[in-house]
Formats: sequence, structure tokens, C-alpha cells
Amino acid sequence: MSVLRFTLAALVFVTLYLAERKWPLRTFVDRGLRRVGVNLVIAALSFGAVALIYGTIVLGSVNWAERHGIGLLRWSGAPTVIATVLSVVLLDYTLWHWHWLNHRIPLLWRFHAAHHADLDLDASTALRFHPGELLLSVPFRVIQVVALGVAARPLVLWETLVLVFILFHHSNLRLPSRLDRLLGFIMITPRVHGIHHSRRPAELHSNFGTLSSVWDRLHGLRVTEVAQEAIHIGLPGQSDDRLGVLKSLAVPFQREAWRIGARDEDRNAAQSQ
Ligand SMILES: [Zn+2]
Repeated sequence: MSVLRFTLAALVFVTLYLAERKWPLRTFVDRGLRRVGVNLVIAALSFGAVALIYGTIVLGSVNWAERHGIGLLRWSGAPTVIATVLSVVLLDYTLWHWHWLNHRIPLLWRFHAAHHADLDLDASTALRFHPGELLLSVPFRVIQVVALGVAARPLVLWETLVLVFILFHHSNLRLPSRLDRLLGFIMITPRVHGIHHSRRPAELHSNFGTLSSVWDRLHGLRVTEVAQEAIHIGLPGQSDDRLGVLKSLAVPFQREAWRIGARDEDRNAAQSQ
């Protein structure tokens, strides 16, 4: 990550961290600094471990595809501005599928569950990803950039937008309701993503968007009518014991009932609807 992007992320994080404590959307379950510290340590370990591999392999793939003239956008011959916009839109749409797959494929879910195991939700949760999840996302990112024919600059632009947007929609920031509804037409708001962190399977397995809210609507997986105070954040069946760094990193390797139970409850919920 460049110094500029790190500085931008740090500024956005600090601003949201202060704002969400002044204007909270949901009552904080855990106001302590320990939880935030755990999330930041996991972030440092994960991004530190994967950054070099990610950068080398993904940027290497972009350069390889460019040299060989491979990818939908290159074949389309679209002007640079159009290709840039389409790159961001199509990367966002394919990332929607990746997030959906993370909830459907047991191996991916094990690692993604470490992100969902946070018992509260704020800007720090946006950075809490297991290194295994980031590592597993590398082959998918290679397929994305090669198949779509995304150039290096649009890729960096999209990654920067993703960073800012995930900090924003994981935050516990209350927006004025009219602004929230207006933004919700095009993008994912904290209110909508909060529902994605619910323990109820029908809510947990909805709202997969990152930048745009269009994809959830397109696939009939957008859930908005949930009172924020009614959301119980975490995983189905998870205990309320706080997870430190090591226990969070151990989540994918445990065999608690909630991980298998989530799928069964999901099926039962779908059948009863
Ligand atoms: Zn998720």
C-alpha cells in the first residue's frame, strides 16, 4: 500500500472512529479500546503478511495481461475514461460474487467467519480480516483483473475506493435518515451493512455489496427493514465471550456448532419463508 493510500485510510479511520462515538447508529456493545486494539493488530498482521504476495502476484497478472492484450475491456477498445468507469463497476460486481461465495463455500466461510466474529461493529471491524481470507482472495483477484482486462491505474483507484467504502459502511455512524435513504439508492450505508453482521442467517446472508447497492437488489438479496437496535452482532450460536487476537485467528480451525449450524439454520429459514 502506498504512503498516500495509508495516510488516506488512517485519516478516514480516525474521522469515522470519532464521529461514530459522537453519533452512534446502534448502542455500542463494547466501548472498550481492547476490541479496537485486537482488530487493529489483526489488520496489521493480515495486511503485513499478504501485502507483498498480493502486490507481486496481482500487479504481475495485470502486467502479463497487458503485454498479451488479454481481457474484456481491452478487447472492447473502450476509451480510457469509459474503461476506467467500467473497471470500477465490474470489479465491484465480481467482488459481490466473491463475498457471496465466502458465505456459501465452507472453506471460504471458515476464514470469512473470523471477520464476522467481532461482537460489535465499527470502523475497526472493516480492517479485521483473517490473513487466510486475504490469501484465498488472491487467485480470485487474478482471475478478476485478467478476465476483465483491468489496467493498473483503475485497479488502484478501485482498491482505494474499496478501502474508504468498507471503513464507512462498517462504521457505527448514524446518518440523517433522509441522507441515509438517498445514499442507499446507490451505495452501501452503515445501516445496511450492519444487517449483514447480524446473527440471524436470513440477515447475515444478505447485503453482500461493497461499493454499489445495485447488485444486492439485482439478486434479490437486499434487506433493509431491520431495526438497528434489534441486531445481535456476531455469528449464529456464538458465545458472548470476547475474542482476543489468537482466538480470532483460530476461528477458521475450530469446529463449533455455529459454523455448521449456520448453514442448517439458513436452510430452515429459507424453507419457512
Ligand atoms: Zn460477509
